[in-house]
This record gives sequence, structure tokens and C-alpha cells, in this order.
Amino acid sequence: SDSSAAFDLVVIGSGPGGYVCAIKAAQLGLKVAVVEKRETYGGTCLNVGCIPSKALLHASEMYAEARHSFATLGIKVSPELDLPTMLVHKDRTVKQNVDGIAFLFKKNRIEGVRGTGRIRAAGEVEVTADGGAKPRVLKTKAICIATGSAVAGIPSVEVAFDGKTVVSSDDAIALEKVPETMIVVGGGVIGVELGSVWSRLGAKVTVVEYLDKVLGPMDGDVSSAFQKLLVKQGVDFRLGAKVTGVAKTDKGASVTFEPVAGGAAETIEADVVLVATGRRAFTDGLGLDEVGVPRDKAGRVEIDAHYKTVVDGIYAIGDVVKGPMLAHKAEDEGIALAEILAGQAGHVNYGVIPSVVYTSPEVASVGATEEELKQAGVAYKAGKFAFTANGRARAMLHTDGFVKFLADAETDRVLGVHILGFGAGDMIAECAVLMEFGGSSEDLARTCHAHPTLSEAVREAAMATFAKPIHS
Ligand code: FAD
Repeated sequence: SDSSAAFDLVVIGSGPGGYVCAIKAAQLGLKVAVVEKRETYGGTCLNVGCIPSKALLHASEMYAEARHSFATLGIKVSPELDLPTMLVHKDRTVKQNVDGIAFLFKKNRIEGVRGTGRIRAAGEVEVTADGGAKPRVLKTKAICIATGSAVAGIPSVEVAFDGKTVVSSDDAIALEKVPETMIVVGGGVIGVELGSVWSRLGAKVTVVEYLDKVLGPMDGDVSSAFQKLLVKQGVDFRLGAKVTGVAKTDKGASVTFEPVAGGAAETIEADVVLVATGRRAFTDGLGLDEVGVPRDKAGRVEIDAHYKTVVDGIYAIGDVVKGPMLAHKAEDEGIALAEILAGQAGHVNYGVIPSVVYTSPEVASVGATEEELKQAGVAYKAGKFAFTANGRARAMLHTDGFVKFLADAETDRVLGVHILGFGAGDMIAECAVLMEFGGSSEDLARTCHAHPTLSEAVREAAMATFAKPIHS
């Protein structure tokens, strides 16, 4: 590190990892710059990920409710889709959020530097802006790599993305018209979220997935119940299917796949094919080999327990390092690293990172799944409660799904909670707090919950692990 450095910290990348790290470090008194090659701050999450997808999920859900539920609620409407305005809502939402980051940088006296960053050496980041201007060199005590992730293709299949018929999530949030048919390759979070958006807006959607379940790492009970609900909503699934080819056709594009278990290949065609098979850590052009920062087999920057690479003064957080590729995981690592750099004890509890799928209904989970507990040979008790037995859910016509608690058989300490249902993503927060404090299911069941709320179902599921729930 260089004591004459202009900055204490230069962050490369302004996604939820980078921008949060920068703000926290500035709040703790460090002099910070953030390098970003995109036009706007906020990274994948704010520009093309979490935020625009949620704007479309919400709008398309409102459309579906207006079409299917309003009449039952006694509201007569004749809803008509206005996709251009829906996309304007999405773009406006993105703009409010990315402008918000620019405001926070100003407020915290963080210098934003537009351009592509490359690490020349520990303590030196070279920034090249478009337009051929001379690169600027930022001298700094510490460097944080927060360059995130990029769309990954399908292993050993060539995919020619064209932004119109063969698309990634980047373009699937901006289709100018609703396709009649859509194939989604990949039944993970991004695939089912965006697939369900276009399904609600009128597309006939088929999800082709390699595993024999959707939402790979989610609890098996939840994922099979979730899949059934999506089938009811009109989405088709081809599970256990290995995609071997994606090709453009006269109509649109085709996907060829064969059963993973062996058997004949099959080709199906649609107007649009969305490839949502995951993301890869993005380190292109950073100069990591030259400065001697190693990456693992998946291309992720290797770090120690304090986010430091093998090179002193160079750290990494977020999607570019191991762990779940989630915005809140990146944010929490950003805060922890800023605290460490400021001499405090930053820490992330990786056992309690909630995971949410923002479909209708939502899926939310924290801690271990039942399959994981079985595999680890942990003795556990399960408690379940269905939303059909919850008064508020009935009033809202949102009775699909259930809450499932998994607690240690002996100590009753909560090991995992899995929720399928309306508002699951918000309800999982109290379960995360409970687990963060090492709480038991009895702790939650003896906490008074307001009536009538959906969260009473969380409480009753907790109660069901050690006693009889009241309402079932
Ligand atoms: P990123 O957000 O990827 O940001 C990295 C930034 O670094 C980018 O702006 C990039 O331009 C910049 N950059 C890269 N290299 C350089 C360089 N050399 N110089 C300068 N700048 C550089 N997560 C959730 O938790 N909830 C969700 O609902 C959710 N929905 C998603 C929906 C979609 C469609 C997608 C694609 C992702 C979603 N995610 C969601 C994942 C989430 O977006 C990521 O986990 C998160 O953005 C990771 O943050 P990050 O800071 O590590 O990287």
C-alpha cells in the first residue's frame, strides 16, 4: 500500500456489492472512488436484474389479478394490455434507482469515475473511458473488485444471442411485443421469474430444465408444489432435459434437447427462446493474471475469510466471488469489507442468507432444506401450515402455498424455513432474524403476531414443529 495514495479505497464496479461497500467505507471516514464502465450506477441488479424484473413482475401480476380475480372481488373491469407503458414503468423505476445511487455518492463525497478499470498493480487502478481519452490512474491504499457477473451460455452449446429471438435476461426485460410462444432454457430463479412475466402477458411458455425439478436448490416440497401452481397458470415444463442445441428458424428459434436419463432427442420451436442457464463471474480485462490474483475453476476471484486475495491491498466481493449470486449477499459483503478496511470486525453469516423467487406466488427460503438435513443426518422436526387455513389469505384470494419450519429435534433451534405463498419474500425476514439470534421454533410461536396477517401462518408452522397448530 502507498501512503501517498489519493484514495483509501477504489471500488471497481457499482453494483449492490460495490456501491454499498463504497457508501459504508465513506461513512466510516475513508476517501473512496468507484469505477463504473456502464452509463449508470447500480450494476446488474438495478439496471437489468432485480429492479426491472420486479417492475415487470408486479405489473404483469396486477394485469393477471385484474383479469382473473377482480370479478370475484366485485370489481368489474375490462383490462387491456398496454405493453409500451408497462415498459415505461419499468424504465422509470430503473432510472429512479440508478439516480438514487448517484445522489448517494454525492452525499457521501464518493468520486464516481466513468470507464473500464484495470488493476496495474496493488494500489493502482487504470481507468479507460470510451472515446480514446488518455487513461487515468487512480492511486489507492485498497482495491475492491466488485465486477459482478455476466450471462453464461449453455455448457458446450453454441448460443447466438441476437437480442430478439434468442435472448438472455438482458433483453427478456425489454421485448417490444408479447411473443405467442416462448421457450425458457433453465428452470432456475431468473427463468421462472421472466417466463412467468411473459406467460401472464399472454405467451405460451415452455421451460426446459436439466434437473428433474425446478428451482434447483430449493426445498423439494416447495419446488414441486410451486411447479404444480405454475402448470395451473399455463406454463409447461420439460424436466430432466439436456439441451444440445439452440438455433434460429424461419418462425423464431428452436431448442433441441434429449432426456438426461437417455433416449431420443426432440426439437421444439417458439417465437422467442430465453436462455437463463445462469451467470458467470465477470473478470474480463481486469488484469488479474498480470497482478497475480488467482481465480477458481468457475472463474471466480479467490479470497480469504476477510475478502482479501493473495495480493495485499486487493479484495473482492459479490457475484465475482464464491457463494450465492444474490444482491443482498453482495451488499452484506460490501458492508463487511468496508468495516474491515476501517479497522472494525466485519462479518457475514452465510448460514442465514434468505433466497426469494418473486413469482406469483412467491417462494422464499432461509437456512437448510429438508433434503440437506437428511443428507447431513441431522435429526429434525418439521412443522407445516397451509395458507388455505389463514383468514387474511382467504380475504385476499391468496390461499396457495404453505409455510414449512425445520427445527433441531433435540434443541428446537430453527435450521430452515421455506415459504410458498403471497408475500413469502417479506415473511422470510422474521425467520432470518430468528435464525440470526439462534432462536427456536417455540420462540417464534410464542411471539404475538397481529391478526389477521399472513404472518400468522409463519407462527402456526413454527407451532406445528412442537405442538398442534390452532387453525388446522
Ligand atoms: P453487479 O451487479 O453485476 O455489478 C458489477 C458492475 O461492475 C457492473 O455495473 C459492471 O458494469 C461493472 N464492471 C465490471 N467490470 C468492470 C470494469 N473492469 N471496470 C468498471 N466497471 C466494471 N438478486 C437478488 O438478490 N434478487 C433478485 O431479485 C435478483 N433478480 C435478478 C434478476 C435478473 C434478471 C438477474 C440477471 C439477476 C438478478 N439478481 C437478483 C442477481 C443480482 O443482480 C446480482 O447478485 C447482483 O447484481 C450482484 O452484485 P455485484 O455488485 O456483485 O455485481
